[in-house]
Amino acid sequence: MSSDLLDSAKKIEPRIVNTRRTIHSHPEMGYQEEQTSTLVQARLRELGIPFRSGLAKTGVVAQIKGELGDGPCVLLRADMDALPIEEASGVPFSSEVPGVMHACGHDAHTAMLLGAAELILDRKSTFAGTVKLMFQPAEEGGGGAARMIDDGVLAEPKVDAAFMLHVWPELDMGQVSCGPGPQLAGANAFTITVKGRGGHGARPHDTIDPVVVGAQIVLAMQTLVSREVDPTVPAVVTLAAFNAGNVSNVIPDQAVIKGTIRAFDDVLFKHLEQRVVEVATGVGAALRATVEVDFAMSYPPSVCDAAMAEHLADSTRSLLGSEKVLPSKPEMGAEDFAFVLQKVPGAMLWLGVKNPDWPAPKPVHTATFDIDEGALPIGSSAMAGVALDYLVKSSK
Ligand SMILES: [Zn+2]
Ligand SMILES: [Zn+2]
Repeated sequence: MSSDLLDSAKKIEPRIVNTRRTIHSHPEMGYQEEQTSTLVQARLRELGIPFRSGLAKTGVVAQIKGELGDGPCVLLRADMDALPIEEASGVPFSSEVPGVMHACGHDAHTAMLLGAAELILDRKSTFAGTVKLMFQPAEEGGGGAARMIDDGVLAEPKVDAAFMLHVWPELDMGQVSCGPGPQLAGANAFTITVKGRGGHGARPHDTIDPVVVGAQIVLAMQTLVSREVDPTVPAVVTLAAFNAGNVSNVIPDQAVIKGTIRAFDDVLFKHLEQRVVEVATGVGAALRATVEVDFAMSYPPSVCDAAMAEHLADSTRSLLGSEKVLPSKPEMGAEDFAFVLQKVPGAMLWLGVKNPDWPAPKPVHTATFDIDEGALPIGSSAMAGVALDYLVKSSK
């Protein structure tokens, strides 16, 4: 797809920016994206694009059919949910909802996909087949993509290829990156509850101290990666929360530890899950405490198909110039687009959003996260381009 797509995206840039700012000011947590979903539906209605709503509660799936007849179906995905963070970015369109912020750029993703919808619609006489637009809830831990798959987002017509983008503050605005294989790790969230027996801080012999047991569990877990995983293979076990007691002279009844496992390899991931349980319960048993481990959510690794990643790279190279398209560097973060990638070959694009004049990146999931909005038309045209190129290529 030539650079006319980027020119067209620049023409609609004010609208994409506006949409992004509206969503940014009104962030909604996972499965509560009512206003955002309503905004998406209103815009699709305005454009005359048929859609289905109510998938995974607030999710929306729209379809643009090419005028050249039947053909394959390519899916483009955006997520709509925000994070429980109090915004401190200082932008004039900051969150109007206390304690909730679009700190992962999902506001931008949704606005860019609506922009892409316009670009694709304007070119529907040029392709055969269907572009499906997936607006999903609850990416941040809620598994919204998995629920949308259960609700049929990949069926009727069956999706043949899937693409997404994510804003990436480590890359300058104007740059993008992508690559084959695992791009993001498998991830879970677990809670370890250490049940002891509380008592007076001066009579430890009458108690089973869950603080001491919990501390031993935290230390024992440090050997899971350092002593049990091949050092050339990436893996993380992080214990990020430890809560027990609240005064200096009372031994509490229980301690609660929360953590996450990250790995690219599914077998290793499962192994670490099993070892977290074994180590926690084993240490607990040795020290007379009862330990329970609960796993809340689990995302598989996001594995990009080699041919789709190459297609995405080719398409963005022709749009932006080869010097702007960099090879990707895998991250231990996670993404629930992984559920889509398990069913359909696809790839993900990292969209540079750092203003080159900023001295340092403004990372996602922080209160000061911000993007250079100059990236928005680039994202819209890259998503439209990868879908159109795929359909044009397949119909030849
Ligand atoms: Zn995030
Ligand atoms: Zn995100």
